[in-house]
Amino acid sequence: MQKYIDQLNEAQRAPVLKKDGPMIIIAGAGSGKTRVLTIRIAYLMHQGIDAFNILSLTFTNKAAREMKHRISDIVGASEAKNLWMGTFHSIFARILRAESDHLGYPSNFTIYDSQDSARLISSIIKEMQLDRDIYKPKQILGRISSYKNSLITVKAYFNNPELVEADAMAKRPRLGEIYQQYVERCFKAGAMDFDDLLLKTNELLTRFPEVLAKYQNRFRYILVDEYQDTNHSQYLIVRALSDKFQNICVVGDDAQSIYAFRGANINNILNFQKDYEGVVMFRLEQNYRSTRNIVEAANTVMDHNKTKLDKVVWTANEFGPRIKVHRSLTDAEEGRFVASTIFEQKMQNQLHNGSFAILYRTNAQSRAMEDALRKRDIPYRIYGGLSFYQRKEIKDVLCYLRLVLNPKDEEALIRVINYPARGIGDTTIEKLTIAANHYKRSIWEVMVNIDKIDLKLNAGTKNKLKDFVTMIQSFQVIDQNQDAFYITDHVAKKTGLVQELKKDATPEGMAKIQNIEELLNGIKDFTEGQREIDGARGALSEFMEDVALATDLDKDTNDEDRVALMTIHLAKGLEFPHVFVVGMEEDLFPSAMSMSTRSELEEERRLFYVALTRAEHQAYLTYAQSRYRWGKLTDSEPSRFIEEIDGQYLEYLTPSETNYRYKSPIDGDIFGDVDKSKLRLSKPVGGTPPKHITDNSPKPDLNIRKLKPVAGTNPNASAPNLFDGKLTIGNIVMHERFGKGEVINMEGVGPDRKAEIKFEVGGIKKLLLRFAKLDVI
Ligand code: ATP
Ligand code: MG
Repeated sequence: MQKYIDQLNEAQRAPVLKKDGPMIIIAGAGSGKTRVLTIRIAYLMHQGIDAFNILSLTFTNKAAREMKHRISDIVGASEAKNLWMGTFHSIFARILRAESDHLGYPSNFTIYDSQDSARLISSIIKEMQLDRDIYKPKQILGRISSYKNSLITVKAYFNNPELVEADAMAKRPRLGEIYQQYVERCFKAGAMDFDDLLLKTNELLTRFPEVLAKYQNRFRYILVDEYQDTNHSQYLIVRALSDKFQNICVVGDDAQSIYAFRGANINNILNFQKDYEGVVMFRLEQNYRSTRNIVEAANTVMDHNKTKLDKVVWTANEFGPRIKVHRSLTDAEEGRFVASTIFEQKMQNQLHNGSFAILYRTNAQSRAMEDALRKRDIPYRIYGGLSFYQRKEIKDVLCYLRLVLNPKDEEALIRVINYPARGIGDTTIEKLTIAANHYKRSIWEVMVNIDKIDLKLNAGTKNKLKDFVTMIQSFQVIDQNQDAFYITDHVAKKTGLVQELKKDATPEGMAKIQNIEELLNGIKDFTEGQREIDGARGALSEFMEDVALATDLDKDTNDEDRVALMTIHLAKGLEFPHVFVVGMEEDLFPSAMSMSTRSELEEERRLFYVALTRAEHQAYLTYAQSRYRWGKLTDSEPSRFIEEIDGQYLEYLTPSETNYRYKSPIDGDIFGDVDKSKLRLSKPVGGTPPKHITDNSPKPDLNIRKLKPVAGTNPNASAPNLFDGKLTIGNIVMHERFGKGEVINMEGVGPDRKAEIKFEVGGIKKLLLRFAKLDVI
């Protein structure tokens, strides 16, 4: 264990060694936050904390698996096995299954994916005879999702006149009814959507104190990675669970908060100190991932955001090559540039495909990249988009399996009841749906009782329905004794799915059969894995749990060496030696849809920060002067984000005869044409770690108490009054926002004069006196 602790730097070691109490680690990209969490867990176990008592929440299941592996290496696999580690969704799905009876759900409830949810919303809109152009299913689903994530239940919605009013104003007065229907239908089908996994957990923990107490006692130590991207619902869960022991350690980077559009709340990180008593804050400042050029360039990007915590990020790594900027005429040419650069780099430097990542703002941009990579025979893999489990033929099999586990699952039932065709037509399905709604039961229950209800079906149809019921019930019997592989293989054959696909001899049809084989291989792997670990059967229910919550990143297999293509959102937390950020154009990145307010633009900028900081060695920024968007050839301008990087960190691969129209990041003014190449310095400057970093004495900002507002603060404190240099080292100052601090260093002259201040809360900050709202006390 000591070996691993020794490998950490001093700042990283401190939060590992501090065992108890609430703590927050705020640090920039690549500074080892995830590594600290990993080692911290291993060290807790080393100190005798039982794995059962540790809960660790990560951004992807893959991240959880990787952490578990590392921890296994340190403490041994049999110990690490019992750790509760995973995404919010996977951990709380597990708890909800165990406690489902409290909420009236079956323990084998189905988890609806976004396709299922959208289809259900669609059919509700249709049944209510609403205009689909006004009630757009995807938008409605988005609204419902944001209500759920803010814990606004149907009841709360109707009790809130403002919300009802807002939807009425948006010409969707019946949104509440749709919401209500949707919730009822999911419940009746024994199904939860993704948002329910959080909402219902909150419900469980608030309504049932004994359940809360049970999990509070169980999870004595809670750790959360990527805390900046938790939404309100997730935040409340963490707060409730950690309330008793208060052994909570969260890590995050406000500069990488990129999910506000989905309800993530950056205030969760900013307010952490208010939520717990005696929070200790740690800061990590040394980046181990990237070259100095990348680290410093990324810092200059973040300088343009107003809303941020002051943070230092530096690196001792080599300066490395500058960020290469490339302009092309079209998106196709951009693709060719990327592909040929990868090709050349591989040849020259003996690199693997896996050393390269191509990141983009929107999924649609992958096509041009794929075309070019294929022409060069470079293997690649796209993450995101339609995942393997959502492909039609795979989902058909999965829906049969879902029915085996939970026959009330309505989305699954409707999908496969007449596929492969067995003569159960739309009219019959409609009659079943109406009856189910009428009796407030599921379609399955109506089918099971088909002889007792008069639906005016002819005998032939009735028999077909009964045959279907018998078939599913026979699968259920098999599922009781067999493993996931056996039952899936059986289902694929007995339902006629495979025969159906075999009728299609086209290459697409063959590919579908291969996909089903791939599914079966995956399940085989799973069942054998389960057996190896603990001799378990590898039951279907366990496999389906994995599938329902699998993100695309999770399926990453290391045996394939491929270039990675993904959106920037998906790339969070990852790292690659060479990173291309493509489509660096105004209206694409920053996205035209996210430029109307400063906060949206700042989120786009954080996204760019995330993109850039994925690169270890070389980053490329590419843009096209024209590209097809929405089927039209559109002219584009280079992204303002390229402009915002200090020119000394860039190398223009294409002559920059086109001058950028320079938009001020602050207020959008056009400053006129600036030729960036003239601004480039011949030699990069800067890069020595700030003084306090080389100082090895213990950091004074590690012990933070809640700071009460000091009485009698100078009423003029907010006036920027220290420009003339009244301030000296050793002065104790009060800042409007940061509170009390000590001046530890001064630098610069005149309007550039800055003070380095060590605040009691929030650590060391460098403030420009011209603006700083400071007062000496
Ligand atoms: P992000 O903000 O992107 O999630 P992070 O802060 O979680 O980044 P890590 O992924 O933990 O950073 O670490 C970045 C890289 O630096 C990893 O490859 C990690 O192994 C390496 N690293 C971290 N700390 C050290 C250290 N003390 N010595 C050597 N390498 C380190
Ligand atoms: Mg990380």
